[in-house]
Amino acid sequence: MRKKIVAGNWKMNKNYAEGIELAKEVSNLVGNKTFHCEIILGTPFIHLAEAVKVVNSQKISVAAQNCANKPSGAYTGEVSAEMIKSTGASHVIIGHSERRAYYAETYQTLKEKVDLALQNNLIPIFCIGEKLSERETSIHFDIVKAQIQESLFHLSEENFGRIVLAYEPVWAIGTGVTATPDQAQEMHFFIRNVISDKYGKGIADVTTILYGGSCNPSNAKELFSNPDVDGGLIGGASLKADDFLKIVDAF
Ligand code: PEP
Repeated sequence: MRKKIVAGNWKMNKNYAEGIELAKEVSNLVGNKTFHCEIILGTPFIHLAEAVKVVNSQKISVAAQNCANKPSGAYTGEVSAEMIKSTGASHVIIGHSERRAYYAETYQTLKEKVDLALQNNLIPIFCIGEKLSERETSIHFDIVKAQIQESLFHLSEENFGRIVLAYEPVWAIGTGVTATPDQAQEMHFFIRNVISDKYGKGIADVTTILYGGSCNPSNAKELFSNPDVDGGLIGGASLKADDFLKIVDAF
């Protein structure tokens, strides 16, 4: 059985007090209930250490949204994987399309980030996904395959087995347009086959592949009911504790 996960990505939202309040709210709503998925909060760096303290760590993990591609040193403004790990966070989102687009992250820098995350015992949530123009010109499968190959296929079987993937079609992120359940399943199935061709069916079958892109309480259940969709990476809807919990509860 592969892990099911619902992870929030708060992006650059919430000041310090608001973020800690949101983390507490989510943790209170989770309470002692049992859900059929792991719950992760992807917070800005400033919230990590305190968020780890205020949530029930038996039920909720905390993720950073990025890490540096260098281990340490004179890189003003950067935050290393080791620093993230020292906050108590357990995961790090790497390769989000906003970072690829606005911060010119390349296959190579993402590969370095993945390596540093793994070396520091952080689980990478590695994002992949095509732009609208790429889907319209039917190169979306090639694009997604290249994103996986170029930044992840240097990994050993053991290390690849530690990665969580998130398929996030760029045209669906923050747009209110969601991939249809069929589109999501088709791509997730393709991704699993790409992994299987390289690492074998055993690894492919246990790799968690999340869907991201305008996932909300009303479409989550249908998206998550696909056999190859193992949960979601949730942007906008993770900023409201109630909505986020409804998505968690969709499993
Ligand atoms: C995201 O940023 O990872 C995301 C999926 O955003 P949204 O849910 O707002 O589309």
